[in-house]
Amino acid sequence: MQVKLNDLSRQHNAIRNEMDAAIAEVINKNAYIGGEFVARFETNFAQYLGIAHCIGCANGTDALEIALDALDLQAGDEVLVPATTWISTAGAVRNQGGVPVFVDVNENFLFDLKDAEKKCSSRTRGIIAVHLFGQAADIKNIVSWAKSKNYFVIEDCAQAHGATFENQKVGTFGDIGTFSFYPGKNLGALGDAGCMVTNSSELAEKCKLYRNHGQLKKHEHLTYGRNSRLDGLQAAVLDVKLKHLPEWTTKRQKIAQNYNQFLSTLPVSILKPASNTQAVYHLYVIQTKDRDGLKVHLDAKGIQTAVHYPLPLPRTQTFWYPNCEIVQAEYLAKHCLSLPIFPEMTEDEQRYVMQSVEQFFVK
Ligand SMILES: *Cc1c(COP(=O)(O)O)cnc(C)c1O
Repeated sequence: MQVKLNDLSRQHNAIRNEMDAAIAEVINKNAYIGGEFVARFETNFAQYLGIAHCIGCANGTDALEIALDALDLQAGDEVLVPATTWISTAGAVRNQGGVPVFVDVNENFLFDLKDAEKKCSSRTRGIIAVHLFGQAADIKNIVSWAKSKNYFVIEDCAQAHGATFENQKVGTFGDIGTFSFYPGKNLGALGDAGCMVTNSSELAEKCKLYRNHGQLKKHEHLTYGRNSRLDGLQAAVLDVKLKHLPEWTTKRQKIAQNYNQFLSTLPVSILKPASNTQAVYHLYVIQTKDRDGLKVHLDAKGIQTAVHYPLPLPRTQTFWYPNCEIVQAEYLAKHCLSLPIFPEMTEDEQRYVMQSVEQFFVK
């Protein structure tokens, strides 16, 4: 049997007719950039999250950069970011002229507030908290600490569409939440797409300006900006997929539960989302001593796995901070392994993955 980490063709085959109809409608109406399909998706996604404003843009990395622009990040400003995350979180800070300062993560790969207390300085302006792998970070405490320090909070929700903290969806706690709709994300376009969300109408206006050449009306350039608009085609596809997202999320959670139950008898650690949160399992990440051995074993069984992430960011060539202390992040990078998870994964496939993992430990 071959099991892929994620198999988008199954998702697309199941909703192919709906997507085709939506795409045809966009072409019939010539609404390629901005326009009614973008506006409709923005409204629907904001409603799904329970937030006032959603502003579409070209991808999740731009969403972070536009959010930093809207929050008026200045050259040399420091922003606290987790050491374990996709490179965009820190890259966006760097691209906007800021300085990423790396904070260690806890045993669940999430922003560690205690370490943030040690790493903040008089130049700190804000925090980007990441809801990694679909888990909610300790966002209420992060926001209240940030408030006490007068820092902004951006929530990077690129992996956490629909994850909740005390029954409230992530992205709605900080000043701005950012999302990626990269095809493989829990809600994915047929190409690149992203958005910013906020409850502040002032920040929403700024995000709209910065995504579109600093203009709200054509040729009225109120500030500099960029071209980072959401396509009508992508918005129409996202709107189709958004209707299915709750059911896909439930399926991911069910698979994670099956894995959790089975793996609890083996020498692996699993993610342990806090009891007041609900994870949406963008990835299913385990930790084990001989990670590389397990990966080779699963490869041989036809099971695709991945390492998220092989190096903490301050140990990469891009962000080379050899003296930055990040004990937990370094430990996780050596021991983590992502197993296949996607809504359409069959029970046979789940069983095959679990039995193959077990075989590695009992052989
Ligand atoms: C995917 C991702 C991004 C970037 O999104 P793109 O749409 O690929 O630019 C940012 N942060 C995290 C945590 C991500 O997983």
